[in-house]
Amino acid sequence: MTSISAEISMQRVAIGGVYRKHLSSVWFSIAATWAIAYVLWQGVGFTQLLLWAVILTLFNVGRFTYALQRIRSADFLDDPRQEERMMSLGLLLTGIGFAVGYAGFVDRAPLGEQYAVVAINVGLCAGAAIVLIGSRLAFIAFIAPFIGVVISTMLWCAVVEGDTLNGVIAMMLVLYVFGVLLYQRQAECALLYNIRLRFEKDELLAHKDDLLAELQVLNRELSADREAFLTASLTDGLTGLANRRHFDRTLAREWDRCRRDGVPFACVMLDIDHFKPFNDRYGHMAGDDCLRAVASIIATTVSRGGDFAARFGGEEFVLLLPGTDVLGAKVLAERIREMTEERAIAHAGGCAERVVTLSAGIASLIPSERFASAQTLVDLADEALYEAKGRGRNRVVARDIDHDEISLPD
Ligand code: GH3
Ligand code: MG
Ligand code: MG
Repeated sequence: MTSISAEISMQRVAIGGVYRKHLSSVWFSIAATWAIAYVLWQGVGFTQLLLWAVILTLFNVGRFTYALQRIRSADFLDDPRQEERMMSLGLLLTGIGFAVGYAGFVDRAPLGEQYAVVAINVGLCAGAAIVLIGSRLAFIAFIAPFIGVVISTMLWCAVVEGDTLNGVIAMMLVLYVFGVLLYQRQAECALLYNIRLRFEKDELLAHKDDLLAELQVLNRELSADREAFLTASLTDGLTGLANRRHFDRTLAREWDRCRRDGVPFACVMLDIDHFKPFNDRYGHMAGDDCLRAVASIIATTVSRGGDFAARFGGEEFVLLLPGTDVLGAKVLAERIREMTEERAIAHAGGCAERVVTLSAGIASLIPSERFASAQTLVDLADEALYEAKGRGRNRVVARDIDHDEISLPD
């Protein structure tokens, strides 16, 4: 809370508060004026006293009207310090009015009445200390004239006329004024502290909203990053198919699901034929292009919900087909094999077809106690793939666990 505008806003709150409260000082002043006039009635001439009381009352009414008009005006507190100065001027003139009353009339009254007027002035001072919390300037401007006159008159009596009682009372009054000033100062500090806290709280609340909005943005970014990271961690960088880690997770999950549902679960292992010679002949980059081409054939073919394709490693791919028996899996594997051959990626390095081909091994079974784990299924598919390679490659071989091996014709 250091900005100039914030400081001015706090001044507005503090001075606005004391300005509104100080309206009541008008009525206290008028009451005190007439109380003093009443007390001094006997000893002092009627005309002078009445004139003094009426003038001071009229001035206070004027002060009230002016203050009320200021409070209601649109530019009230545009310049809080200026408002405080005008309020202090009105109070200073009221205070001078009381000082004039004391200096002009009190010595003509009997001693008892004199002390009564002193007491009224002391009361005014205490009342002002409470009403004017928030503006030390206004408080001092108000009490200084009459309390100054009361104390100096009493000290004068004590020094010049040797009146020790007046001297003692004057000293007590000095102490009293210090006490009141101290109280006023502490109360003002507490008030300003309170206002400052309120402003800081508002600022913190506004800041909290900003922070929350920022946090929400960060959270969204984090979620997106997390999502991207998660996808990347499960995807093969070269082909865009699922990677081995994704395969392992899916295998376990689908195995359990098929066992629960009592449906067949097919696994197809696919391996590009003579890929090493292809790499050797055409280079590693061309090998990567070939892997991507085969992966895209696999991705477009395996599109049924629940079917899953992954790069198993190197030039091997794998399909997981929940709810699919051997015949269904064979149709899919054969389609991939045919499409790969039809893609006609030139391969002069050793195979009869002179294009890139692939072999596939299939296994399908209904998961049950008979098969300890999903690994059995993968091993069976791998065995079938080995078989396909052994039989001359570019073919699909299936193993049905409940029947003899089935092989599609070339
Ligand atoms: P087979 O018909 O029996 O499967 O023979 P093959 O040559 O395909 O099998 P082999 O296991 O001997 O060779 C696989 C080759 O695949 C070896 C390796 O250089 C290549 N390979 C594995 N991963 C990648 C890859 O990410 N990019 C490229 N370009 N080649 C790869
Ligand atoms: Mg291989
Ligand atoms: Mg191979």
